[in-house]
Amino acid sequence: MNRVLVPLRLDGAAPPLGARSCAIGGETMGTTWQVRWVASEPLTDDVVRAAVQGELNLVVAQMSTWLAGSDLDRFNRAPAGTWHTLPEAFATVLGAAVWMADASGGAFNPAAGTLVDLWGFGPGPRYTDPGFELPEQPAVQAALAHTDWRRLRWDAGSGRAQQPGGVRLDFSAIAKGHAVDRVAQRLDALGVRSALVEVGGELRGQGFAPGGQPWWVDLESPPVRQAGPAVPTTRVALHGLSVATSGDYRRAFTHGGAHWPHTIDPRDGRPVSHGLASVSVLHGSCMWADAWSTALMVLGPEAGMALAVEHGIAALFVRRERSGRLAESITPAMDALSE
Ligand code: AMP
Ligand code: MG
Repeated sequence: MNRVLVPLRLDGAAPPLGARSCAIGGETMGTTWQVRWVASEPLTDDVVRAAVQGELNLVVAQMSTWLAGSDLDRFNRAPAGTWHTLPEAFATVLGAAVWMADASGGAFNPAAGTLVDLWGFGPGPRYTDPGFELPEQPAVQAALAHTDWRRLRWDAGSGRAQQPGGVRLDFSAIAKGHAVDRVAQRLDALGVRSALVEVGGELRGQGFAPGGQPWWVDLESPPVRQAGPAVPTTRVALHGLSVATSGDYRRAFTHGGAHWPHTIDPRDGRPVSHGLASVSVLHGSCMWADAWSTALMVLGPEAGMALAVEHGIAALFVRRERSGRLAESITPAMDALSE
């Protein structure tokens, strides 16, 4: 292990000695979830499970691209010009996603659903289906015409949004992070001060682990495709802190000798190919960590690093070099957390 990151302040009391250490998990959003917590309250696992499941179900019911009839699915299918009252969580995530799209010049784009589908990563034909073909350039051009997030009109005050016609929202790059935040807040409201929440690799830790240590988590590191050394491990104390990772290995396929990851650059309509293997972002909010990690993954090593530095984001970039080796770089905000 080569790097240890610790938040600048550790607040609150560690759980009392002898507090029960608990863990539950399950499946959601096409991936797995896990919650670990320290029970100093007389809460049964069933009560905690029901609370967690309630938050996860709410995010799916509102924001799933896969669930026919979710609020997002109904918005995506709605006729041009229709207005829709968005439920609160949907509106929160849309607001953050539009901010991220503006800030990243459209590298992050919540209206990229048509492109995501075209490349086989959405609810349409999958890249895993037998006979799946790479899209031709005219199809990419046609899809690009539906991805302008600036055509979305919405009113944060009333929570209403207009479907401009043919825009397919996709919150897969941000909703898991929001789900983590919701679960963590719900646990806190139940009196659970010490918990580690994970949905599909996005994590938030609050309070302390059993024994009074912070929740120590190793950042996900990309698999090495050719022989060569792995990158050093970065271990983080998740104390009131979240981490999200976007990677070119998470969902991807190989076709015609090229590697096609599920991160699409909505500016040219094609999966990214700048050689970035992964980006991990630490942030107080897991929703923002998730949005930023995707945005930086699209922007690539240079533009991504520049934007992260400009916004004071704590990020770790892992590049694939021609030799097949992995090389890391970190932003000053992440360096400031190094012990
Ligand atoms: P993440 O793992 O958080 O980086 O999210 C990746 C998922 O977000 C993909 O599977 C797509 O559904 C979606 N996606 C792909 N490219 C983009 C993009 N440029 N902006 C927003 N969402 C995207
Ligand atoms: Mg993301």
